[in-house]
Amino acid sequence: MNPNRKPIVAGNWKMNNTVAEALTLVTEIKRQAAEGKGVEIVLCPPFTALQAVSNAISGTAIGLGAQNMHWEKSGAFTGEVSATMLRELYCHYVIIGHSERRTLFGETDEAVNRKIKTALASNLHPIVCVGETLQQRQANQTEAIIRAQVLNGLKDIAADQFANIIMAYEPVWAIGTGMTATPGQAQDVHRFIRGLLQELADEKIAQTVRIQYGGSIKPANAKELFHQSDIDGGLIGGAALDAVAFMAIVNAAL
Ligand code: PEP
Repeated sequence: MNPNRKPIVAGNWKMNNTVAEALTLVTEIKRQAAEGKGVEIVLCPPFTALQAVSNAISGTAIGLGAQNMHWEKSGAFTGEVSATMLRELYCHYVIIGHSERRTLFGETDEAVNRKIKTALASNLHPIVCVGETLQQRQANQTEAIIRAQVLNGLKDIAADQFANIIMAYEPVWAIGTGMTATPGQAQDVHRFIRGLLQELADEKIAQTVRIQYGGSIKPANAKELFHQSDIDGGLIGGAALDAVAFMAIVNAAL
């Protein structure tokens, strides 16, 4: 954690929570959120619960994020949702390039790049996910994979937009597996990502970008991860479905 960057902790609820369940969870998070001052909190419910959660957090400092969007403004894209539709619900963040989208839905770096551009043009903060598989890590390809994902994902994006982007390093082998990167492993990749941002922009700009860690963060391991100098918060999956665990992680980022 670097005092010049405000930590940001986002909950990725994935395909979980009906509207009723979402409201129960958000009510509890809101009740406890006063303790989390100093940390930006973002909730990313499924599309169907965005409106309800948006209403529930209205007037609080909690931010709203979507889990995906299309890069086009509108049109014949059955099943897709546009940036304008998200903005209409007071969404200010959108997760882009999550490993589940890349692996299960064939999302490429090129699609990620298009989505980031559209998100930025629509005043949405993209939370851009990158990460290597276990096989790639074991083959010593982590840096090459991250390099390609970051450089292709951020291709032709103006450096003055970088402060509006949140990066998320999510080793695929750590997502939903209970296996967490050690603080040292995570910090090494975060530092590497910041170096890539410096290559694309400059050091000053690279220092402003927040880089979240994601992958089996729990209250028990959050503090040590957040203690690393280039880790600026977390993207939380499983533990974000439990208000007590999620807020314990938020508080660990204080
Ligand atoms: C995620 O899906 O972004 C994630 C980090 O999941 P989990 O915390 O469950 O590993």
